[in-house]
Amino acid sequence: MSDTVADRARGVLETGTGLDEAGVLAVLRLPDEELPAALQLAHEVRMRWCGPEVEVEGIVSVKTGGCPEDCHFCSQSGLFTSPVRAVWLDIPALVEAARQTAATGATEFCIVAAVRGPPRSATPSTSTSPRRSAC
Ligand code: SF4
Repeated sequence: MSDTVADRARGVLETGTGLDEAGVLAVLRLPDEELPAALQLAHEVRMRWCGPEVEVEGIVSVKTGGCPEDCHFCSQSGLFTSPVRAVWLDIPALVEAARQTAATGATEFCIVAAVRGPPRSATPSTSTSPRRSAC
């Protein structure tokens, strides 16, 4: 790993303080051959400052595809040619997915939808954003 990036990374390991923007950019620009060392260091930081525990989450898409947003990277946008078609998961299937997730020991169950946003009735009245993507 280059000296500058290695020095910054050692600082993270020793102090637990995250990288600043310049440090993050330096890591993102590392050449491929330096990735194994960077990943090893990231693992050491995690083990030292967070420990080996992980939180298991389940995620299910209640509505896939046909999204009115125009995110160019996403195959779920209904504004571009894509094999992904709009499909809704019915409530019994959603409940079953939640049950299966709970049975795995997961502590979180997340529901996503390819929509512009939840209905206003489902959001706090303080929300003023006219475009609220929910994926
Ligand atoms: S809002 Fe989400 S689902 Fe919709 S097009 Fe963008 S990334 Fe895809």
